[in-house]
Amino acid sequence: MLEKVLIANRGEIALRILRACKELGIKTVAVYSTADRELMHLGLADETVCIGPAPATKSYLHIPAIIAAAEVTGANGIHPGYGFLAENADFAEQVEKSGFAFIGPTAEVIRLMGDKVSAKNAMKQAGVPTVPGSDGPLPEDEETALAIARQVGYPVIIKAAGGGGGRGMRVVRKEEDLIKSARLTRTEAEAAFGNGMVYLEKFLENPRHVEVQVLSDGQGHAIHLGDRDCSLQRRHQKVLEEAPAPGIDPQARAEVLDRCVRACIEIGYRGAGTFEFLYEDGRFYFIEMNTRVQVEHPVTEMVTGIDIVKEMLLIAGGEPLSIRQEDVVIRGHALECRINAEDPATFMPSPGKVKHFHAPGGNGIRVDSHLYSGYAVPPNYDSLIGKLIAYGKDRDEAMARMRNALDEIVVDGIKTNVPLHRELTRDPGFCQGGVNIHYLEKKLGLDKH
Ligand code: ADP
Repeated sequence: MLEKVLIANRGEIALRILRACKELGIKTVAVYSTADRELMHLGLADETVCIGPAPATKSYLHIPAIIAAAEVTGANGIHPGYGFLAENADFAEQVEKSGFAFIGPTAEVIRLMGDKVSAKNAMKQAGVPTVPGSDGPLPEDEETALAIARQVGYPVIIKAAGGGGGRGMRVVRKEEDLIKSARLTRTEAEAAFGNGMVYLEKFLENPRHVEVQVLSDGQGHAIHLGDRDCSLQRRHQKVLEEAPAPGIDPQARAEVLDRCVRACIEIGYRGAGTFEFLYEDGRFYFIEMNTRVQVEHPVTEMVTGIDIVKEMLLIAGGEPLSIRQEDVVIRGHALECRINAEDPATFMPSPGKVKHFHAPGGNGIRVDSHLYSGYAVPPNYDSLIGKLIAYGKDRDEAMARMRNALDEIVVDGIKTNVPLHRELTRDPGFCQGGVNIHYLEKKLGLDKH
């Protein structure tokens, strides 16, 4: 059992993890950078350790500082949250080598899923549907590469095996552009990720982003918690998410959920994880797996009643999964608006002092946020300052509650994207459900597609 957990993160997710630990009677160690002395969860943690200066590379990404903090406080587990070191296999390895439980999968599995070529191969083998493509790295030999692309059919997309965060991808619409594009993507990938390997897949024109949440104990038991739709994105960044994904073909859904569970068993997955898919014309295509808790996990918690972070802690403590698949019932609908400290029109970050914060409330409303009146949002990190989650017996009720919550929320002193969310939750296309991944950028006039 975990007795004391070090939370290797900041902001809303650090607070979220702290709450779950407290519920389970696990002691907490909060770590922070010098720019984060005012973080809300520091006052709630059993112990706090300053791990370095403001730049993340010197604090939240600085592995020796985090391990040292765990050592001096006598923590026996480390929760990485999302972002920062959450999907860093070397970190997971060092954590475990130093004698702490890494609250997530093994380093080996993180490594397997961190390389998109090996991840895709593993999924294909496990029977998870993938996007048709090069089946491994795209060969440097020009004739072979051209033949593969011809067989897949244009348009195609060239992607870096080591890519992430929406970077390292290039769409190719005509055969004459293939070789040049492959070369460019290789060079960029080499510079950005230190890995020049690229692969090719069919470019889907109008897919939706639908993902599957899983829990797996690494001891042979795995379950899914249904799906989420995260198609409302800007620059590959999710803006508003929901569960379940509306209007999905029931048979395709049942099949993909089952395949994800089987894949977990096959790869020896441990912890919470997400299989991300593109969904087009009633079919699922795997694109990547996230081996950590995701920002949008609350929408799944709302419709299943299962606390994903608590389950992660129990699994890391060595307990077998106590929930059976038949216990998982998807009830109602949930939406999540990511609240960012940014200009709603230009999307420029807007850090600074929050003069006044008023959290909305009412039936079905959940606020996951570290904000409080007087808190200063530092300029050094991600602009996410909170998540507004609305639950309802159906999508319309969740939407109506979300609109109320967005009308009630007050964040004075800094700019936020609340006005954008007010508009989105009144947008007829989105309200109808099932929009594709280009919808938001088209609406914002940013999509050249
Ligand atoms: P990252 O790890 O950088 O987020 P992903 O593989 O998850 O990379 O892809 C990011 C986004 O790129 C997807 O959400 C989708 O919008 C787009 N994309 C990726 N592969 C394809 C594809 N084969 N067809 C169409 N769009 C794609």
